Amino acid sequence: AFNAAVAEANPALNAFIVTTPDHALAAAAKVDSARAAGEELGKLAGVPIGMKDLFATEGVQTTAASHILEGFEPQYESTVSRKLWEAGAGMLGKLNLDQFAMGSSNETSAFGNVISPWRRTGADGSVDTAPLAPGGSSGGSSSAVAARIAAAATGTDTGGSIRQPAAFTGISGIKPTYGRCSRWGIVAFASSLDQAGPMARDVRDCAIMLEAMAGFDPKDSTSLDMPVPEWDANLSDDLRGRKIGIPREYRIDGFNADVAKSWDDGIAWLKDAGAEIVDINLPHTRYALPTYYIIAPAEASSNLARYDGVRYGLRELPEGANLQEMYAATRAAGFGAEVKRRILIGTYVLSAGFYDAYYTQAQKVRTLISRDFMNAFDEVDVILTPTAPTSAFALGEKTSDPLEMYLNDVFSVPASLAGLPAMSVPAGLDRGGLPLGLHLIGRPFDEQGVLNAGLAIE
Ligand code: GLN
Repeated sequence: AFNAAVAEANPALNAFIVTTPDHALAAAAKVDSARAAGEELGKLAGVPIGMKDLFATEGVQTTAASHILEGFEPQYESTVSRKLWEAGAGMLGKLNLDQFAMGSSNETSAFGNVISPWRRTGADGSVDTAPLAPGGSSGGSSSAVAARIAAAATGTDTGGSIRQPAAFTGISGIKPTYGRCSRWGIVAFASSLDQAGPMARDVRDCAIMLEAMAGFDPKDSTSLDMPVPEWDANLSDDLRGRKIGIPREYRIDGFNADVAKSWDDGIAWLKDAGAEIVDINLPHTRYALPTYYIIAPAEASSNLARYDGVRYGLRELPEGANLQEMYAATRAAGFGAEVKRRILIGTYVLSAGFYDAYYTQAQKVRTLISRDFMNAFDEVDVILTPTAPTSAFALGEKTSDPLEMYLNDVFSVPASLAGLPAMSVPAGLDRGGLPLGLHLIGRPFDEQGVLNAGLAIE
């Protein structure tokens, strides 16, 4: 049924770059054979999911939504996808994303925009037909789950790419503590920030799927060597005795009235669940966005040096070109504009003359931002903020001004820089009938606290 739904809806949504119906059917068939043999079923037995096209999947094209990797078929499986298959899940296909996960609207993909299944409603009840961004970079994942053509999907989050698209489409998504999910076999963007996580209809599905995705992996040197907790079994929306922090600094200039209201709603719901609400300060919040947009491009410029036309995908070899000219021609043709912008910024901030002024300084500020959170967590258990400053915007609305686009990440990047678990849960609709998300940030390793607060809001 899911394969049929994908075939029917994908032409309008453009959520999947490739579909793999046989993979999903094989997982379903295994359920039947395991049942017949009296074997115990995995937690995701037969569940058809979409895989963000940033995860290497053996024998299935893996592109990072970039022309430079078009046609690349890995000979290996990422650790996270392998674990999902071991838990019984099957793959419906590879999901579209912003190119190399750089973007907030899925508009930087080399495979075209993803369309959100949502539409804005006017005050008179008329439906505005302008297509909306599904958020990014995990826009194929959010669109497919919101349209109910995938039971759940994987996402990756470097500065908000699980949480912001979840918020834009009315679904749930959690970025676990940095190191919970192995990065092995995930196309690298900014290695000190990248984390995989689930995107699903609700908090419980996220808990179940994260249990399957997480766990120590000797192939990733930053992988956490800790047991995976039983998040699903320990879900509880009873928040008595829990303290929830509200950071004043997130009330930014020009704060959107609908977003402010949903934040107040969230506070009321958490109180109803028994939590105590505490005002907190995160004084370095306003430096988070500039810090992120130095560190992430710096790491990207280094990670993307490997796409040189020799080892993967595309090679442009103009007549008579030498090696340098082949590199230049391949990278010029293969990378999109946003990816080139990030490589330029990253190379600049890492250059000998500017390294201390930008990169070293950004690393220091990153430490201050982490300390803000650690101080706050002396007082509170979980922090509540909006996920994004607005609901979904129209396709094309922000593409001409990259800074406008970067501003969309203002609430999600601080937790990324500090490596903290953070989740977006649906929290009602704005006056245009579009979903708004609320954002829960937890102590390191306290995904349970985040999930439980999310459950109380959902
Ligand atoms: N929107 C942010 C960026 O463009 C975050 C992307 C992500 O988390 N992968 O870098």
